[in-house]
Amino acid sequence: MDYEVKDVEVEDEFKICPSCGYEDGFHSMFKKKKDIIKWLFICPACHIVFDIGFAV
Ligand SMILES: [Zn+2]
Repeated sequence: MDYEVKDVEVEDEFKICPSCGYEDGFHSMFKKKKDIIKWLFICPACHIVFDIGFAV
């Protein structure tokens, strides 16, 4: 699967899409990377994938 992941630095909240301005939050996805699982967020409007630094 080929898609771009954008790194985002979160200040107070992460609710509005920094790319298209969609205001109602994000879908979640998880991606295994070596021994951690990255928790990524997908904008439902523009479908860009964001990495805010979450990992499980
Ligand atoms: Zn968006």
